[in-house]
Amino acid sequence: MGLEYYEIDTDRCTECVGHYDSPTCQQVCPIDNTIIIDPQRVETNDQLWEKFVVLHPAG
Ligand code: SF4
Repeated sequence: MGLEYYEIDTDRCTECVGHYDSPTCQQVCPIDNTIIIDPQRVETNDQLWEKFVVLHPAG
């Protein structure tokens, strides 16, 4: 929980790369356009994969 709303930890978010084809939180949120990519933290698919591997070292 952030100061005003829930915030996604970008160090732990892979945009669901490694698990799903698209960001699951965006799909299940009932309110459109509330979960957005941080323009200050745009990552390539390769970078997201590297993060996935770091977060899931066992496989
Ligand atoms: S559901 Fe996927 S896109 Fe949403 S915060 Fe978690 S890892 Fe990131």
